[in-house]
Amino acid sequence: MPAADGMVVFTASDKVKARRKATMEFITLNHPVDCGICDKAGECTLQDYHFEYNGGASVSRDAKTHATKHFDLSDRIVLDNERCIQCTRCVRFTREISKSNGLGMLDRGDHSIVRPSADGSFAKDAYSDNVIDLCPVGALLAKDFLHKARVWYLKATPSVCPGCERGCGVNLWHRKDEWMLRSPRQAARNDGLDRVTPIENPAVNGPWVCNKARDLPKLLGRVRAAGALFKGAPAPLEAAVLEARALIAEAKRPVAVVSSWASNEELAAFKAALGGRLALVAKRDHEPQPGEVVQDDLLIRADKNPNAAGVRAVLGECGTEVPKDADLVLVWGEGFDFRAVPASAKIVFLNAFLAPENGHADVFLPVSIQTERSGHYTNFAGVTSRFERCFALPPGVLHAEDLFGSLVGNGRGA
Ligand code: SF4
Ligand code: SF4
Repeated sequence: MPAADGMVVFTASDKVKARRKATMEFITLNHPVDCGICDKAGECTLQDYHFEYNGGASVSRDAKTHATKHFDLSDRIVLDNERCIQCTRCVRFTREISKSNGLGMLDRGDHSIVRPSADGSFAKDAYSDNVIDLCPVGALLAKDFLHKARVWYLKATPSVCPGCERGCGVNLWHRKDEWMLRSPRQAARNDGLDRVTPIENPAVNGPWVCNKARDLPKLLGRVRAAGALFKGAPAPLEAAVLEARALIAEAKRPVAVVSSWASNEELAAFKAALGGRLALVAKRDHEPQPGEVVQDDLLIRADKNPNAAGVRAVLGECGTEVPKDADLVLVWGEGFDFRAVPASAKIVFLNAFLAPENGHADVFLPVSIQTERSGHYTNFAGVTSRFERCFALPPGVLHAEDLFGSLVGNGRGA
């Protein structure tokens, strides 16, 4: 019914309420109502609308039409056909947004089912997981999150995806304090991310993110570097900081290889403490991985680091190679080829994750990751976005932002 001047629209009359109730009865006619075991429970619009507009028990005298309960749509997503209300939002997403044309509807009436296209394009769709969010019911579910937690056990911390220089807004979901797991077998999950969803930001990512953001729990959940090292041997953290400070003070031609995963705040702290003392080389911590979409027209950018623009803005133009005459190289973050360090140069290495290179440095210092601090990244278009802290700093780990001030001075004394 097209709107017209002077038209009066009733949205809460008894007639309207009766029609809405009837529509809800129709939509849920074959729905299994297995909310108790459904990951969508708590954020399901079908639940919300049923509560608001129907609220009654089923009046159908016929048995429900059954369909596939657990259909592998891809290696990331499982489809419950019984929960599907055939709205076709997921199909439209692959046609209009990701343009993979990866999904379609098969058959008619109450036998209609969503199926992936035969060419396997849905499995290759770099944005496929958005259909999990836009499905109004629990028909499309992430395998990584399947039956892992009820959503009301989790809280969402606003953050920024570090997967490329787009810097999409994301919510990082993790356990609420009152729902921490207490069994020793599961307690480690308290400090990990359970899932990632987009934050709508028209200036950066619209309402979407690519699948790389959904995989951040794996990327950020890698085994951490647990303590400071002197040439691979465990060292007290304080002594390691003093040794790093002394090496920097003694160096004649020190160089810093700067992380493009660093926040603007960390970069400013680095510049204030050491910027005038060390020559600067900018580094890409992460490069595209085999099989990864390098760049496209929707969101994905070729630079797989969140803050290369921040490095340029805070530190200016940096070099790209370590000078051959450097006698000390301070390496900050991952992705550096240590063969580029001159043989006689000392190495101070700041890294968050367990890696063989940690043991090669003269001094290794473990530093925090994005989920343990707050800060800002500046994306390729100059938009600065803030990320918030999710977890406390683990024992034996330093914030690089606090560390840089301690690396200025002379000698090994405190
Ligand atoms: S978005 Fe969900 S409910 Fe709608 S057609 Fe797809 S699977 Fe079914
Ligand atoms: S486009 Fe880049 S920033 Fe956005 S979700 Fe994907 S990897 Fe993350």
